[in-house]
Amino acid sequence: MVLGGGYSGLIAANRIARRLSGADVMLVNERPRFVERVRLHQVAAGQRPVEHLLADRVRPGVRLSIGRVTALDPDRREVRVGDDALGYDTLVYALGSGAVVPESAAGALTAAGAESAEEASKRIADLAAENGVLAVVGGGLTGIETAAELAESHPGLRVRMLTSGEPGGFLSPRGKAHVRRVFDRLGVEVLTDADVEEVREDAVVLRDGRAVGAALTVWSTGFAVPALAGRSGLAVDAHGRIRVDATLRSLSHPEVYAVGDSAAATRQNGRELRMACATGIPAAYCAADAIAARLTGREARPLRFRYVNQCVSLGRRDGLVQYVDADDNPHRTVLTGRLAARYKEAIVRGALFVTAKSGPYSLARPRSVLR
Ligand SMILES: Cc1cc2nc3c(=O)[nH]c(=O)nc-3n(C[C@H](O)[C@H](O)[C@H](O)COP(=O)(O)OP(=O)(O)OC[C@H]3O[C@@H](n4cnc5c(N)ncnc54)[C@H](O)[C@@H]3O)c2cc1C
Repeated sequence: MVLGGGYSGLIAANRIARRLSGADVMLVNERPRFVERVRLHQVAAGQRPVEHLLADRVRPGVRLSIGRVTALDPDRREVRVGDDALGYDTLVYALGSGAVVPESAAGALTAAGAESAEEASKRIADLAAENGVLAVVGGGLTGIETAAELAESHPGLRVRMLTSGEPGGFLSPRGKAHVRRVFDRLGVEVLTDADVEEVREDAVVLRDGRAVGAALTVWSTGFAVPALAGRSGLAVDAHGRIRVDATLRSLSHPEVYAVGDSAAATRQNGRELRMACATGIPAAYCAADAIAARLTGREARPLRFRYVNQCVSLGRRDGLVQYVDADDNPHRTVLTGRLAARYKEAIVRGALFVTAKSGPYSLARPRSVLR
């Protein structure tokens, strides 16, 4: 049984079905469609990416169950989906993550989930029609992509980014300079050293008492995982992600595997993987192979992963490809402009392609996938 039909869950289910003909594989997801999460900032900006049904993306041998998982009992090997209690022999947990919005910012919008991004798009379009001011809180990759996308799609909107440091502080100097250049061109104002305390109806209030006017705020300071795993008694880390070994197998329950944002997976040198498709996709291949290997009496191979680059969209016509070392530290080299935008679009399409039912499930598993 695979919980979660996002990038990593869908890939895991399809690859297990490919590797273990005759296995009864069930994929559980809360909605019938596959959400391309990496495009949700585009959705918030009012674009409507093509919709994909999970039913069209699962291989023969994978049964779909549409419903929300509300409880998991790993000792009884049982999952509750709506009113049903479903048993399993082996479980892959791939429920992903969502926004982390503190209570003091409860009125803020987010682009972290399908429904919240759609809701944001309506409110942002209305605000843009009045030439209003919108704040994006958080200067990480998703905050940067969101601010640029909103500013490009809604030229009437005044976008302000509030960050505690430089936007994309982890990028190389050239990478950061390019983000600033694009923000200047798109009219995105940047307020650094902005430690946000509260989001009000008409302003964002900073810890030093300053109030920055904004009729809407998009909160983008990172992702948090569902509490379900921690509640179930599985061993989890301080963030609630399932603690796994090098084959993505739970440290507390050997018949459970975790992949994607919900797993506290590490590189072979022990460094934690960041939440990304780039890490979730190879992890899904690895977990599926480990399950197939163990169920057929072979030895499971550990995850071997290295980062290559971080690809950041800056609207539809510009982008940034930041080359990194195996541990995700930036090199000096970057690719920018239209070519980088095309490169990023190719990566996003590639991530969708590997989830297709005819995806490359029989090929060797990837050691890196570009962000
Ligand atoms: C705007 C945005 C841009 C991004 N850009 C990039 C990028 O450029 N590159 C990159 O590598 N990463 C990017 N990410 C991060 C990336 O989307 C995630 O890391 C990735 O989607 C994680 O994959 P996953 O399979 O673990 O989880 P998800 O893709 O989140 O899938 C989880 C699935 O589980 C389902 N689910 C959750 N809870 C339940 C439940 N209780 N019951 C049933 N179903 C449930 C969800 O509906 C979903 O289908 C971006 C994220 C956002 C929001």
